[in-house]
Amino acid sequence: MTPALSKIVWLAFAVGWALLRLNPNRRARKTAVRYSARGMREFVLLALSFSGLGIVPCIYVATHFPRFADYPYVPAASYLGIAVDLVSLWLFFRTHRDLGHNWSVSLDLRERHTLVTTGIYATLRHPMYAGFWLMALAQVLLLPNWVAGPAGLVGFGALFFGRVRREEEMMISAFGDEYRAYMRRTARVVPWLY
Ligand code: SAH
Repeated sequence: MTPALSKIVWLAFAVGWALLRLNPNRRARKTAVRYSARGMREFVLLALSFSGLGIVPCIYVATHFPRFADYPYVPAASYLGIAVDLVSLWLFFRTHRDLGHNWSVSLDLRERHTLVTTGIYATLRHPMYAGFWLMALAQVLLLPNWVAGPAGLVGFGALFFGRVRREEEMMISAFGDEYRAYMRRTARVVPWLY
């Protein structure tokens, strides 16, 4: 493994993730929205996340900017990054399958929205966000650069902490005690811990 190959691996996983999203995106466009909590705040948070997980590392992979922020490359980190990215992709696959037509890129409730509490959602309330955390961690492991590596953690961290409570409030407004009970028996992103 070399730094150049590690960059290509990062890119391959990014493309794999985008391909996995094709069908859910298509389905989301066809499923009517009943209520939406989108707004300027959600727009900014999504832009931050997209920049940190996509634009900043893409610029680094394509141009090696900002080169001054490079640090010494350790091959073992790349292998670990691959393992973490594989788990992350598996989480995206599982969560999209479990959520089905209920998925949105932002805070929406769909027509005939159902509360999913089975599959991976039986353990975690936000397994897709767990997938994004792992994707951001893999970025740190694959890109030995103080800017491009942690950008995903910062960008997605902003989205996660800026959104998760509002999402849970939206789910409570839609599903009431059913969601409150679901919250009591599940963790957010780390099984049994958080
Ligand atoms: N936070 C979840 C889902 C992310 S997609 C996760 O990380 O896995 C965001 C959309 O999913 C939200 O707009 C909300 O409407 C929907 N959603 C979140 N949890 C859900 C659940 N348990 N059942 C059905 N829809 C859910």
